Amino acid sequence: MTGNRDHALGIYISIPFCRSKCTYCNFASGVYPAADHERYVQRVIEDMANAPAWARAMGVELPRRVDTVYLGGGTPSLLAPELLARLFAALRAQFDIKAGAEITVECAPGQLADPMPEALAAAGVNRVSLGVQSFVDAEAHASGRLHDRNIVERDLRRLRAAGISNLNADLIAGLAGQTFATWKESLDALLASDVPHASVYMLEVDEDSRLGREMLKGGSRYRAGLVPSDDAIAQMYERAIERLNAAGLVQYEISNFSRPGRESRHNLRYWQRRPYLGLGLDASSALQAAALATSDGERSNPGDVLRATTTGDLKAYLAGTAIAETAWLSPERQHEEAWFLGLRMNSGVNVADLTREFGSAMVEPALETVTRLAEDCLLIFDGERVRLTAQGRLLSNQVFQEFLKPEIALTGRRA
Ligand code: SF4
Repeated sequence: MTGNRDHALGIYISIPFCRSKCTYCNFASGVYPAADHERYVQRVIEDMANAPAWARAMGVELPRRVDTVYLGGGTPSLLAPELLARLFAALRAQFDIKAGAEITVECAPGQLADPMPEALAAAGVNRVSLGVQSFVDAEAHASGRLHDRNIVERDLRRLRAAGISNLNADLIAGLAGQTFATWKESLDALLASDVPHASVYMLEVDEDSRLGREMLKGGSRYRAGLVPSDDAIAQMYERAIERLNAAGLVQYEISNFSRPGRESRHNLRYWQRRPYLGLGLDASSALQAAALATSDGERSNPGDVLRATTTGDLKAYLAGTAIAETAWLSPERQHEEAWFLGLRMNSGVNVADLTREFGSAMVEPALETVTRLAEDCLLIFDGERVRLTAQGRLLSNQVFQEFLKPEIALTGRRA
């Protein structure tokens, strides 16, 4: 969290329901009966109502003013329109959603029921992120998606007709069966769709996903043998950067590209370490410690940040027995996050700002790491800002690791 106090909040709501499970996915999402949807929304609304009391008890600030909302999943568009309307009505009753706030809902192509685009617009949703992953039908089907290219294009038309033009499309480089030719096909289709924002991820197969298990143990059901090599995936990612930048979708973060002014304000919030409240299963919050009243007036301790995550399974969450794990982040930990979150953005890390926030005793050793990584051509430091190089973006996890000290853990205390 930045040293400057931020009095506007972002809200993330997790909706862990999917119609089918993608082969590469290991998120806490699953295929559950529609009856659970209503109970889940009710539980989220209860958590939302309890959030101010929880924040007071934890000693953190929970601004009422909200400037970004993000419904992610899972597949939030699977909720019935009346449940979405109920959720947004509760949100607006509890928080002051700023005029012009960015309100995003993740949707899966082919899983937008007939009135859904209109229902989203009526609820005030002004941005939709569409999980396309591939415009090539065989690749989409093989990875468990339930759409083809025509359906994606139809859904984009429907969303635009409903008045939602701030659209993102996700693509994955490295799907089973993908080749340079089919990747080009997907990039061509993405650019032809004229969306103002795209996210491009390099496939990272988790060993607990169905695809990951097949890669480890063998088999052909999920076409694990056809997953491109790491080198091929890296080249696909590089081609995407070239094509999208050339077409005016400018890369502003490792995986994100947009037309000017269409960056995801909610996701920027994470990388800029601004406060957010997460509601629902597996959702995380990062909130600043409340200002402390002292004899000489109100004083805040801006270094204190609380991280909270609701863990457990859906059954536990619905029963109200899911555990909210909380930890205060030590200043050292926040400093590390400032590096590995800030470096994700193409604008990089401003060293003077970081020194003001954390002091030179903490920043100086990190600058030695920067020098070392600059010698390896992974970072570039122009005297003001530190940024990843193109090679650094490909090896970003390795770079971030260099800023992490294993002995620095989350602390259970306030400074
Ligand atoms: S839609 Fe998303 S959350 Fe659901 S299974 Fe596929 S990748 Fe996972």
